[in-house]
Amino acid sequence: MRRILLWMARNRWLREHLPRLWFARRAVRRFMPGEDSASALDAAEKFKADGITSEFTRLGENVTAVEEGDAVAEHYLALLDDIQARRLDGEISVKLTQLGYDLDVDRTLAHTARLAARAAEHGRTLWVDMEGSAYAEGTIAFYERLKATNPNSGLCLQSYLHRTAADIQRLLPLDPAIRLVKGAYAEPASLAYQTKHDVDTNYVALAVALLEGARDGRKVGLGLGTHDVRLIEQIAEQATAMGLPKTSFEVQMLYGIRMDEQRRLAREGYLVRNLIAYGEAWYPWYMRRLAERPANVIFALRQIIG
Ligand SMILES: Cc1cc2nc3c(=O)[nH]c(=O)nc-3n(C[C@H](O)[C@H](O)[C@H](O)COP(=O)(O)OP(=O)(O)OC[C@H]3O[C@@H](n4cnc5c(N)ncnc54)[C@H](O)[C@@H]3O)c2cc1C
Repeated sequence: MRRILLWMARNRWLREHLPRLWFARRAVRRFMPGEDSASALDAAEKFKADGITSEFTRLGENVTAVEEGDAVAEHYLALLDDIQARRLDGEISVKLTQLGYDLDVDRTLAHTARLAARAAEHGRTLWVDMEGSAYAEGTIAFYERLKATNPNSGLCLQSYLHRTAADIQRLLPLDPAIRLVKGAYAEPASLAYQTKHDVDTNYVALAVALLEGARDGRKVGLGLGTHDVRLIEQIAEQATAMGLPKTSFEVQMLYGIRMDEQRRLAREGYLVRNLIAYGEAWYPWYMRRLAERPANVIFALRQIIG
């Protein structure tokens, strides 16, 4: 089921046709408050009362003209101003291929540097997503360049990739901000762990490596980008054993997933950030959410019927 859903996520014909169907638009609402940024900002305001901060991403990837990437950069600059105007503790997370990385890496770097500089004016981090494994080395090299001039930038790394342990050792001297996730794409066994057990075991080992970096004096920002509360609590215990508080990392979860746990963790003193996605290009992203938990397909069908 996971592989079929990930294949559907990549299929061009489905990508063009499925989102036009009313029932698909209705089903996606569970993971997305709306297609425009105002809906995302409104949703973030509601989380304030629960002590949950926010993070925003406009859906879309692999633009095919540099002007499209330029427009996305302008959109995010305006969004950063809107976040500030509404006095939200909100950050943004961007996909490099949405900013034109496939077409012009230096231009994309200039975009992210401008976004990071605007984010820095209000003490915020600019997060860079990690895409499929074909982009892993390029994205890490890109982050090394961005971080050199923009210390407030952070990068997503995936625990399913074999290479990530070495990537963390490579990045630690830069005092990185890392959002650790399990990984959302279909990757071959030569590059990625294939079982949940192996991906989870590596997740904890990588989080511990980053916490050890913090304990040893590096300035490490750690975001646990997972809904796996069991792993979060395991990592919190390891942090305590190292003499680090549970605020030495942030829990980052997606809008619409495990909201009860997000509120509970915030009540218990964890730093919780909710990633809210919006935009018209939601199809591949939505299919990846279904693939993460095939039971969601049943849920989606129920929403369509109900
Ligand atoms: C803030 C954030 C940013 C991310 N950024 C990236 C990125 O840049 N690149 C990338 O490759 N991936 C990214 N991801 C996705 C990530 O890689 C995983 O695919 C996703 O988080 C699901 O894995 P999990 O860690 O929640 O663990 P899982 O083992 O999949 O799930 C743990 C538990 O959480 C619940 N759960 C998980 N997913 C769902 C869901 N879709 N619907 C309902 N319940 C669910 C289930 O109860 C499940 O038992 C991001 C995830 C988050 C939270």
